[in-house]
Amino acid sequence: MGAPNSEAVTGPTARRGPAVDTSTSRPPSTRRVLVLGGTAEARALAAILAAQPATTVVSSLAGRVADPRLPVGEVRIGGFGGPAGLARWLTDHHVDAVVDATHPYAARMRIAGVEAAATARVPHLRLERPGWTAQPGDRWHRVPDMAAAVRDLPALGTRALLTTGRQSLGMFLPVTGMWFLARVVDAPDEPLPAHVRLLRSRGPYTVDGELALIRDHRIDVLVTKDSGGALTEAKLVAARRLGLPVLMVDRPAPPDLPAVVQTAEEAARWVERLPAGQPG
Ligand code: NAP
Repeated sequence: MGAPNSEAVTGPTARRGPAVDTSTSRPPSTRRVLVLGGTAEARALAAILAAQPATTVVSSLAGRVADPRLPVGEVRIGGFGGPAGLARWLTDHHVDAVVDATHPYAARMRIAGVEAAATARVPHLRLERPGWTAQPGDRWHRVPDMAAAVRDLPALGTRALLTTGRQSLGMFLPVTGMWFLARVVDAPDEPLPAHVRLLRSRGPYTVDGELALIRDHRIDVLVTKDSGGALTEAKLVAARRLGLPVLMVDRPAPPDLPAVVQTAEEAARWVERLPAGQPG
């Protein structure tokens, strides 16, 4: 569990700066909502909530990405120090509700959000986009986790487009007899072996772009999480058109969640139905 390390900035154009505590004042009779972010849905929700007169919104990012896309409104960056740290933060900052809009694979934060909201006695909502659905012509090979993906990959191809992110990259490095094109937002700290080429980029992607990438690098298998959403879906369309196998790593099993929605609009309606908070 890391120590809390946060700083506050204001989006969408601001960059990281010294911590500014904006928690002590707010307009009377507004509800203050914390959005746990790092996704397109979280940014969409922050934009909608910022326009609700009775809501003030603060978005939280983990700080994994060097140059994150910032949501509209107040933003704080860095971990809270586990569920207890987050619960303290909710109380100290007079938060009336939490919307966890973190990525479907952010398994730790998902549990921490539920526990912290229960401790701080504030309502909790999970906003999670649906996963992708296989279409006719797809050759998906589903596996329960990254370890199973590493195990099964050599049976599916020899030149992999690896899109599971920087954090899981190290697990694939010992796979011998394969070549990898690893697409990541930020480069890993460690040097990579010769059979791994790094491609730094951030979506959204187009089908034509993905087709060209796959052909140019003679990719014969795609490795992906079941992230869902439109921004990174083009690789699946390209794989389908080219008849490529797709190694699809399933989402981690969800905790028991009190309330779940799939879109930012549904989450905003949930917030709107909450009573307004006390003047802070
Ligand atoms: P994770 O494993 O669930 O979380 C690890 C730790 O990072 C948490 O315990 C927490 O630290 C901190 N953290 C995570 N999300 C945070 C947030 N929104 N605000 C403040 N602290 C946060 O998460 P992850 O998979 O590393 O993902 C980190 C971030 O990247 C998330 O915001 C997620 O939405 C985004 N993201 C993840 C993926 C993915 O594939 N995993 C893809 C795209 C975007 P403390 O314990 O110190 O509070």
